[in-house]
Amino acid sequence: MKAISNISSVSASALCIEEIQQIESSVAQFGSPLLMLDCDIVRQQYQSLQAALPGVILHFALKPLPHPDVVTTLLAEGACFDLATSGEVDLVASQGVPADQTIYTHPIKRDQDIRDALDYGCTVFVVDNLNELNKFIPYKDRAEILVRLSFRNAEAFADLSKKFGCSPEAAIEIIACAQEAGIYVKGLSFHVGSQTMNPQKYVDAIDVCNQLMRDVVALGLPALSTLDIGGGFPVSYSHTVMPIDQFCEPVNAALAKLPDTTTVLAEPGRFIVAPAVTSVASVMGQAERDGQIWYYLDDGIYGSFSGLMFDEAHYPLTPLRQDNQCYPSVLAGPTCDSIDVIAQNILLPKLENGDLIVAKMMGAYTSATATDFNFFKRATTIVMNQHISDELRVV
Ligand SMILES: *Cc1c(COP(=O)(O)O)cnc(C)c1O
Repeated sequence: MKAISNISSVSASALCIEEIQQIESSVAQFGSPLLMLDCDIVRQQYQSLQAALPGVILHFALKPLPHPDVVTTLLAEGACFDLATSGEVDLVASQGVPADQTIYTHPIKRDQDIRDALDYGCTVFVVDNLNELNKFIPYKDRAEILVRLSFRNAEAFADLSKKFGCSPEAAIEIIACAQEAGIYVKGLSFHVGSQTMNPQKYVDAIDVCNQLMRDVVALGLPALSTLDIGGGFPVSYSHTVMPIDQFCEPVNAALAKLPDTTTVLAEPGRFIVAPAVTSVASVMGQAERDGQIWYYLDDGIYGSFSGLMFDEAHYPLTPLRQDNQCYPSVLAGPTCDSIDVIAQNILLPKLENGDLIVAKMMGAYTSATATDFNFFKRATTIVMNQHISDELRVV
């Protein structure tokens, strides 16, 4: 097989010496595959988004990484939380999150889901249609409503407005019916789509909501106090995206035009956790097929790399072994299914069984969507930097 020199598309230079040592000692201690969660990065991501969106109350959406250490880390930073299921309610409740720091944003709920959230003490709920609004008639003394609008976004990883959200006209109808039924509508929400690269999507949505908030008052309906601008903030996978402060500049300019008293919320998920997890898998075996070397790893599409199917993310992959001679290779997962392939035509040095492959940016929509297919156990998550070191702790 022809070796290609020095033009590896991947490189361990992305990893510093300390990281390599930490990876090797963690695998020695806990085995493979691993997911290494770094709470310091969770903190940094939260702080940088909060700095980029001053005055916006950040509610971490649990869905991309529902892990107790992420919850406690963010709680210590003063974060709020965005819940969508009773399981997520249980998770934040078990970590001592005060219910008034939560909102419940699944637009479609069973009565039991509503009662579970209310029993915990969460009182803010999202609806996007009249059928859903009517579910709150029995709870109208306790529940407050955000009406979710839909803004289509074909470019996003996940165009969430295809499945949820209503038009501004339908929102007015919902608000009017709520008024008649005695249900309090607190404000509006939207989600422009996950991994949205273009801030203009937020600007356009905020502008429409701004107009709608003014229309509501003009129609003699009660004024709306709150706008929830959702999640979707982008991170750099294999392509770099705009730095978050630059990304948020036009968003802040659009928010500045809202009525003065508006409370603004956001529901970031991916941005907070994607860079906080590094995965480690090891080579179980190998074969030469059609001019490429196939390496079979102990983690794959049905495990931590499920985001390749569900999320279209391209995680930066690096072998720990470095060599100038590289060969076109395939990285496959462990299951007996042929779709279980992580990367094809990737240039890698000649690997040995047991060698480690490291993937960065593995925190969002990875372990959350992993399965136990073929009885391959999910990767073990190990948690680093749970507590702020004493030098960093402000006293
Ligand atoms: C998934 C989801 C989020 C988080 O979105 P990201 O793109 O991960 O930031 C926020 N809000 C709702 C309602 C969601 O469904």
